[in-house]
Amino acid sequence: MAELLKGAPVAAAIRERVAGICERTRARGAQPKLAVVRVGERPDDLAYERGALKSCERAGVAAEVFALPAGISDAAFQDAFAAVCADTGNHGVLLFRPLPKGLDEAAARAAIPPEKDVDCMSPANFAKLFQGDPSGFAPCTPRAVMETLRHYGVSVQGKRVTLVGRSLVVGKPLAMLLLAESATLTVCHTKTQDLAAECRRAEILVAAAGSARMITAGYVSPGAVVVDVGMNVDETGALCGDVDFEAVSAVASRITPVPGGVGSVTSSVLALHTALACAASLGLPN
Ligand code: NAP
Repeated sequence: MAELLKGAPVAAAIRERVAGICERTRARGAQPKLAVVRVGERPDDLAYERGALKSCERAGVAAEVFALPAGISDAAFQDAFAAVCADTGNHGVLLFRPLPKGLDEAAARAAIPPEKDVDCMSPANFAKLFQGDPSGFAPCTPRAVMETLRHYGVSVQGKRVTLVGRSLVVGKPLAMLLLAESATLTVCHTKTQDLAAECRRAEILVAAAGSARMITAGYVSPGAVVVDVGMNVDETGALCGDVDFEAVSAVASRITPVPGGVGSVTSSVLALHTALACAASLGLPN
């Protein structure tokens, strides 16, 4: 059976780092604070919000939710968002996307100050990510994957890594982080021919497709490390990943579970980015 790469110890180690940063910022009179901007009440947003608030609280980072009505006009939304971004007490700003129809997401992306953009939605932080410049914030989920691998001593350098998924939220940014650490990378998607063969070549397989249990044992080479980013609800209503956990556990050497894997690390990365943003605003080193 594969060794479980659980998210909880990774999240705990990140929280410890956050606590140290918060101690240094508080000594300088600044309490790190995350502003969460939500428009409407999408269940996905509410679930992520609960996790983010809990994680911030446990890490000693303050958090405030700015909930705006689903029917808000674009002008009112842009004004409210600009005010949250401009408040010097908010060190990190998280905006739930996609925004309801009629709201200009591109304008919001452009408006967020890169130094407060703790989940990488601004063009400036995206550019840094693609340039391999670590001074910007990467999106939290791809960073959570890298933190998980690092925590468990899995180096990607020179390894054959196959990534299933090329979205702007997970796949592409994760590809950049993997390349920055010198992985030999294959990125797959719905047009990939013989996906199973591409996956079987991998020493490290990362699934970020959003398709319940699509990665079966036949996709995994014996001894591979498998990271499951997927968060899906199956036909019985249960949360599951993109990986058929039972079957793949018998083939892989190490595997992240769902729930309890990468997802549980993501919100601690958000707290970390917020603490780092606060420290940077004070000119403190990381
Ligand atoms: P997305 O925007 O739907 O993108 C899915 C990607 O996977 C696309 O590039 C798509 O290819 C590819 N894909 C889908 N089905 C495939 C298949 N059968 N074969 C090969 N490629 C396939 O999803 P996302 O936002 O990137 O999210 C991916 C998963 O991660 C979801 O389950 C989501 O819930 C989860 N997630 C988890 C966290 C966390 O904290 N753990 C955070 C965010 C997202 P094309 O480009 O060709 O369409």
